[in-house]
Amino acid sequence: MKLASLSVLAALAAAFATTALAADKKIQLKTKPYPMDTCLVSGEKLGSMGDAYVLVEGDQEIQLCCKSCLKDFNKDKKANLTKVTDAWKKVKAYPATTCIVSGEALDAKQAVGVVQDGSEYQFCCKDCVKEFKKDTAKFAKKLAEISKK
Ligand SMILES: [Zn+2]
Ligand SMILES: [Zn+2]
Repeated sequence: MKLASLSVLAALAAAFATTALAADKKIQLKTKPYPMDTCLVSGEKLGSMGDAYVLVEGDQEIQLCCKSCLKDFNKDKKANLTKVTDAWKKVKAYPATTCIVSGEALDAKQAVGVVQDGSEYQFCCKDCVKEFKKDTAKFAKKLAEISKK
């Protein structure tokens, strides 16, 4: 009996060690990117009616199709934020600690994230995001390569 519980403890410790290791590989962004490509309130495809309205709630970036959706967002903030949390569960976390564009080491204070087609990408700076948006397909391939390692 005692032996059995010891081995359970050992397994738990091992599991904990792996989790800690995996966590080490991720950068905690100052602001988490918005994980959806539709307006949080209206469900409208973002960008279809001009630039999205962007705000930051806590450490979470929110995107709305227009400023008038802000009122509805604030009316039921808790439910809306839950939608964001749920959307994040479907996103594949960025697997590296280097910028997908420049390859430079990411600094948590400067790094920016973008969620594109269900995957998170991280960048060392906003210029790299611009570079990424020019050819997202190219970087999707690069991400697939990194993920294999
Ligand atoms: Zn709107
Ligand atoms: Zn950069």
